[in-house]
Amino acid sequence: MKILLTGGTGFIGSHTAVALLERGFEVILLDNFSNSSPDAADRVREITGRDLLCIKTDLLDADGVGLAFSQNPGIDAVMHFAGFKAVGESVSEPLAYYHNNIAGTLNLIEIMNKNGVKKLIFSSSATVYRADNPVPYFEDYPLGATNPYGWSKVMIEQILRDVCAANPEWSMALLRYFNPIGAHESGMIGEAPNGIPNNLMPYITKVAAGELPVIHIFGDDYDTPDGTGVRDYIHVMDLAEGHILAMNYIRERKGAWSFNLGTGKGYSVKELIAAFEKVCGKELPKQTDARRAGDLPAAYANTALAKKELGFAARYGIEKMCEDSWRWQITGACRK
Ligand code: NAD
Ligand code: UDP
Repeated sequence: MKILLTGGTGFIGSHTAVALLERGFEVILLDNFSNSSPDAADRVREITGRDLLCIKTDLLDADGVGLAFSQNPGIDAVMHFAGFKAVGESVSEPLAYYHNNIAGTLNLIEIMNKNGVKKLIFSSSATVYRADNPVPYFEDYPLGATNPYGWSKVMIEQILRDVCAANPEWSMALLRYFNPIGAHESGMIGEAPNGIPNNLMPYITKVAAGELPVIHIFGDDYDTPDGTGVRDYIHVMDLAEGHILAMNYIRERKGAWSFNLGTGKGYSVKELIAAFEKVCGKELPKQTDARRAGDLPAAYANTALAKKELGFAARYGIEKMCEDSWRWQITGACRK
């Protein structure tokens, strides 16, 4: 089977490419390298010992995307990772986020339609659950968001459901990721955020490496066991596995199917830092700051549906997630 990955040189796309190649799939990566580099494709080749095609194209360039499909006939399915993903930036640049994420998806769907490719796995997010939902999150909870990034995911999900409702030939999986961390255990690919990281795990690894002075804990007065925010961290290679299971699932079914991809277990900020300290063998400087605007006390998945329907269960625990994130940081490969 031939699978095209938009955003394929990014963090989650590159790890999913490894998982696909290791299972014998043919892989095409499509990316504009706005938040990644073609080096990731070379590293995926090196890890797997298999070749893949890597195409530089912007999803907003309909001609370029059209060529990627017409010059590569026989694509069976698309995994759609491409998009902007920084919550804070989406608040200051909403138009850029709506334009890139939504218009890019519309182009992709139209071109897939024209080329008779009607299987899509979409990178959605736990941010599509409205903030007033109780934890754990179930897939049938009401949707909503608190920032333009989150709304772009809610809107794209709606568009994709509408496409499936209008055309029964389409099959789609809308995968709601919780907090992906970790890296491939080779230490050759991983998450490489530009500038100062917004997310907790890359921030911790940079403090541990001495590149940043201190971890800022955003609030310790939440209604959680230790007062700090609780999230459902999932190893990126488990997430990659979830994509393969979801692809197998939609091969046999029509319509749009939503699934949580998480472990179902929440860890607090303090617990994640403590787990990381154990792995890197030293205590890390940390300080408690004010809550970050818009943050929820706790967000974690109910994983029963993904388990029942996809057979999905995360294999890796928090220690392995920390070990692999740390290895990626210290190998030095983590430069884009
Ligand atoms: P990433 O930034 O590492 O990867 C996204 C890739 O898309 C990048 O390589 C970027 O260059 C590319 N891209 C962006 N706009 C493009 C365009 N118009 N045309 C072509 N390529 C484009 O991000 P990631 O962490 O791998 O996330 C992948 C997807 O998963 C995103 O849609 C993101 O919103 C979603 N997601 C990520 C997380 C997370 O914490 N990482 C959580 C939930 C959902
Ligand atoms: N967080 C923190 N310090 C940081 C970054 C994040 O304390 O430098 C907290 C944040 O408040 C949340 C958790 O860590 O409780 C996870 O945040 P992250 O940005 O990684 O993911 P989110 O769940 O917000 O998408």
